[in-house]
Amino acid sequence: MSYYSPSIEKLIESFERLPSIGHKTAARLAFHILNAPEEETNEFIASIQNAKKNLKYCSKCYNISDTDPCTICENPKRDKNTICVVEDVRDIIAIERTHEYKGVYHVLHGSISPMNGIGPDDIKIKELLARITPETKEVILATNPRVEGEATAMYISKLLRPLGVITTRIAHGIPIGGDLEYTDEITLSKALEGRRKL
Ligand code: ZN
Repeated sequence: MSYYSPSIEKLIESFERLPSIGHKTAARLAFHILNAPEEETNEFIASIQNAKKNLKYCSKCYNISDTDPCTICENPKRDKNTICVVEDVRDIIAIERTHEYKGVYHVLHGSISPMNGIGPDDIKIKELLARITPETKEVILATNPRVEGEATAMYISKLLRPLGVITTRIAHGIPIGGDLEYTDEITLSKALEGRRKL
């Protein structure tokens, strides 16, 4: 039985649905919102609605962007024939922070994980293969160095082999079980530099 009024209970429930938010934190956030000035909460609501309405997937690389194609795909200075494959949009931000990479990206939106019922068709692998042309110089597999990320990299490299495109895997400066998103720029840029051919 809940001691909160139904409206507060509902607000707490909404926060609890967010990743890594437990009941206690959800309650704290809900009460913060309730006590915040109306202007602040309106701005918060508007920014969520705005992001949901305006953001779309780039039809080339599946980055989340305000524009299609995204600013990276559209940038004439980026090398369109080098494609860095990542699991998540946030990994692009991590790699961009290194200022080392001048190619384009491909976001898989996940990794192959039979345990969680995610197969190759559930992530953007077909879309990656469709982007490979005879001009493609290199595909860099920058999936996370975890079991799923490794399996995904192996799977993709097998598919790319008959296409004759050079496929590399980022080096392991990144801790096994780690997240690209939380890796510092130096480690990540070393890992990119030390990528090896698959
Ligand atoms: Zn793009």
